[in-house]
Amino acid sequence: MKKFTRNIEDFTCLNCGRAVAGNGYTNHCPECLYSRHVDINPGDRASSCGGAMRPIGVETTGGTNIIIHKCEKCGHVMRIRANDNDNMIAIIKLSADNDFVFGKK
Ligand SMILES: [Zn+2]
Ligand SMILES: [Zn+2]
Repeated sequence: MKKFTRNIEDFTCLNCGRAVAGNGYTNHCPECLYSRHVDINPGDRASSCGGAMRPIGVETTGGTNIIIHKCEKCGHVMRIRANDNDNMIAIIKLSADNDFVFGKK
């Protein structure tokens, strides 16, 4: 029997190199909003892909920002709720231009 344990892991952002303290649910970078493809559904850690997930857009539903990520390795798309400590400017830029690529010019 495998016991479900909430996985809290720190990681280094694949895009900007920032050391991010994981909270067990979301694992995206609060600065550039990049994530890492470790989940099939948010928080399940069921994917072995490990690719960088680029933020490609933002949806706002009832005042909640949902960041849409797309894996640069396999193309998997995932929606993750934004955290309160996420870079608001990055989220606003992302919602204004869904093709904006952070850190790449
Ligand atoms: Zn980053
Ligand atoms: Zn992937």
